[in-house]
Amino acid sequence: MPISDKDMLAMAARHAIAGHAKVKILATSETATIVLPGKVGKKITLRLNKSGKTIERLPKEIALLPSPPPPAAPLTLGQICALCLEEAASKKCSGCGAGVCSQECYQKYWKEHKPACLQEQSGRAGEEYAREENRAVQLLDAAMKDDVSKIQKLTDKLLAAVAKTKFKKFARVAVRRFVNFIDPPYRGLNQPKNDFKGLAEQKITKGA
Ligand SMILES: [Zn+2]
Ligand SMILES: [Zn+2]
Repeated sequence: MPISDKDMLAMAARHAIAGHAKVKILATSETATIVLPGKVGKKITLRLNKSGKTIERLPKEIALLPSPPPPAAPLTLGQICALCLEEAASKKCSGCGAGVCSQECYQKYWKEHKPACLQEQSGRAGEEYAREENRAVQLLDAAMKDDVSKIQKLTDKLLAAVAKTKFKKFARVAVRRFVNFIDPPYRGLNQPKNDFKGLAEQKITKGA
């Protein structure tokens, strides 16, 4: 979805807060992140990823890059098994990534672990959805324009995808993570005019 220069400027501060907007400087191919204050006059404020230098560029001088993949969560040494809470974790649950001590423990506690595991998987799906096709940016754009039908469409598509998975019971978690991806709970900063969180949750409750 092409985003106009005007919209890019309008959204810059919120991109800066969320910290997810990576761009390429067209002239030099350097990558940068939109940082606060977001814009100065008609220019976007950026931090170059390599040098850490802060610069300003016109929207037409930069291009938004697809959202980066999530940082891999390393299995920290000394982490305790999330299931038995006794042994040291040496493996990971393939579903949610929780540290686990052994296959035996995993089998023993699977039933107990299952709801939390599926919930986490659903949340991750929501985040992945936000990253793919720059949907976080699309959602923010729609929120800034009060484009309720676009917001609904993005949410519906996620719900439809989650409905086909084994964590469909936790679709709400996916939607919440999707929305939070661009809207981390900062206090006292401008919020989009539409309460699209409420909108998304209503929709789920109705369908459930
Ligand atoms: Zn264990
Ligand atoms: Zn798990």
